[in-house]
Amino acid sequence: MDERIVSFSWAREILPGRGLLAYANDSREIVIMSLQFYSREPEPEGSTRERSVWEICELARFDGGGPHKVVDTEDPDFVPDGSGFSLKWSPWHVSPECRTATLAYIANNHVGFRRVSIHGKWDKGQDPTLRVEQTDTTAICMPLGADAFVEWEDAIWPDGDGHMARGIIATPFVPKPFQVDVCGAPSRPMASHSAGQCSSVYARDDEASTNPITGIIVHHPDPNNKSPAPEYSLVRLSATATNQDWYQTNVSEHDVALPQWAEYVRRHSTRLVPRLAAMEGLESDSDSEDLDDEFTEDEVPMSQVHPHRFRFWGLASSPGDGCTAVLVTQHNTQHPHRRPRSKILFGRRDPTKETTPGKQTGVAKKLTTEGRLWEAYYGNQWDVSDAVLTGTADSLVHQSPLRDLFKDVTAQQRCVYCESRLSISSQESNCENGHSFATCAATGLPIMAPGASRLCAVCGLRCLKGSELSTIAKKYIGLDAVVDLAGDVCGGCGGKFVS
Ligand SMILES: [Zn+2]
Ligand SMILES: [Zn+2]
Repeated sequence: MDERIVSFSWAREILPGRGLLAYANDSREIVIMSLQFYSREPEPEGSTRERSVWEICELARFDGGGPHKVVDTEDPDFVPDGSGFSLKWSPWHVSPECRTATLAYIANNHVGFRRVSIHGKWDKGQDPTLRVEQTDTTAICMPLGADAFVEWEDAIWPDGDGHMARGIIATPFVPKPFQVDVCGAPSRPMASHSAGQCSSVYARDDEASTNPITGIIVHHPDPNNKSPAPEYSLVRLSATATNQDWYQTNVSEHDVALPQWAEYVRRHSTRLVPRLAAMEGLESDSDSEDLDDEFTEDEVPMSQVHPHRFRFWGLASSPGDGCTAVLVTQHNTQHPHRRPRSKILFGRRDPTKETTPGKQTGVAKKLTTEGRLWEAYYGNQWDVSDAVLTGTADSLVHQSPLRDLFKDVTAQQRCVYCESRLSISSQESNCENGHSFATCAATGLPIMAPGASRLCAVCGLRCLKGSELSTIAKKYIGLDAVVDLAGDVCGGCGGKFVS
């Protein structure tokens, strides 16, 4: 592959161990690849262990250059375009026959929306039947600067026969809402033209800004209460004492409190101290107030300065919207040559704050166990008492294909020490002579060897390793027994294993 990747985006979740990604290269082509991780059946004469393999494969490639004629870099109207974030996948619309999404891509003063669909089932180890349309569903010419990007709302809204997905384009100075029918038919391709012909070279005067948006989060919508436009919060690059636009949101103050990080940045960027103190570097990062007292006692009025300004480099939210985080650098205004420190600052939902009655906050869709755990501990929402170990939860009542597969094997198990019968409960298996073993939370089998299991970090239960399960399956069920470790998650709570 003789190409350079300039932009990259993961498609939203598809199936365990299977995903799609898109990248753009330096010749303005957009490439869609599939990526899989699965266990290949061993060769008959080979080792008994299955081999886990990663497989990546190019599925489609299309021109992402947009309709505008290339302008020479010497031309006064030349504007650089694109960034590492100029591709973004919409959420999937899933129907029984296929799943469909739209890939938004940014070209020179142009945003294209290309429909991508997967037809039929995607079996492990096979390539999916992918269809990428020849032309865009919708395309918009608009003035875009370098580092323009797109963010999608995580929802599909039925609208007549259509399935609308919405989002925000950051130009990057102005947030512009858009909506696209993810299942809409492709439209005729836009003829090649110069950006002057569609007036997308220069932004309107009222959109002139010099503080680009560096991060947007589109909040999870209330599915029963569609807002007129996607609700978002954004940060801009520069935060000083003289500008206020570095944090903006279109959510009503009722529903979203000022995040703690915004409070921190506001306090530190608007703080005034005597110039001398700032010059001497006495003004440290601490919030010490004694400095001010010390110097205000002075008879001579001294000029005052704001010792700090900030730069925002990114904004993100947790899966359930309960927590936000920003990456910032804090700069010293009096000693600009000093290297700024990078920090990640967090904000979390205030549990005591009342929201607009009837308005649902957070996400409607099911989060992963880790996502729920994060929200419970750091986002102040929901609880995970059913997931974390309570001592009373009986994981044996859960039905799963894996548990059904090993149902008969469990009864045949004997104690490794004394060969006696085992009585198996949800967390522990005991033999008649008092030997005890942990019980695998995924299958209900007793774990009778060291190193054969993994400990779940969420609920504290043990699960047998996949390789161990196939050995047991071959021994008790038959050589052709297939252990489908879909997702390979903890049987107790659904948590994932890292290794
Ligand atoms: Zn145009
Ligand atoms: Zn678990």
